[in-house]
Amino acid sequence: MGARDPGAVKVEARHAGALRVHDFVARSRANGPGVRAVLWLQGCSLGCPGCFNPGAHPRDAGERASVDELLARVADLGAGIEGLTVSGGEPLEQARPLRALLERLRRRAPLSVILFTGFTWEEVTAAAEMAHVLPFVDVLVAGRYDAARRLARGLRGSANKTTHFLTDRYAEDDLEAVPAAEIAIGPAGEVLVTGIDPPHLGVR
Ligand code: SF4
Repeated sequence: MGARDPGAVKVEARHAGALRVHDFVARSRANGPGVRAVLWLQGCSLGCPGCFNPGAHPRDAGERASVDELLARVADLGAGIEGLTVSGGEPLEQARPLRALLERLRRRAPLSVILFTGFTWEEVTAAAEMAHVLPFVDVLVAGRYDAARRLARGLRGSANKTTHFLTDRYAEDDLEAVPAAEIAIGPAGEVLVTGIDPPHLGVR
């Protein structure tokens, strides 16, 4: 999909007190530095060819969860995690409730926040609702996935994506050290393959 006029970027106004969730894992080492909770938000209208998470595209699928509930889910993990990674789907199509979640999380716990978005940096900073999420983010990885420029390193799925260190909490080396993928076994025995490059493990 080609770049869009930033002025035409549509940020969906959803209920500020709830998010549509695709998935959640309490502990991952392949979605940012250290052990992190990962929240995948449901819904993405950007349509990057070759996206390996098409199940996260329909905006009304997944689970609806209140900001209160998600905050408790992350905060209950306590000192066992270094931070929260938010991915999707397209998290910034739920910018208002996402901002509410991250703002409250930052007040409550010293967790770092990494945010993946398919919007470019220029699109994010040109749209007030999306830009207002940035004060609560340590690292933003921005831009469409471009299969022709596949990279799968340093948390960037393709070389056109840009990384923005919004605080001094992390540097490039921290992201380069993150494993490309991992396989996690859930409490009910379910298998989750995650990370920036699941095909690295021979799984699609
Ligand atoms: S922005 Fe992300 S979830 Fe959306 S189509 Fe692109 S790669 Fe897939």
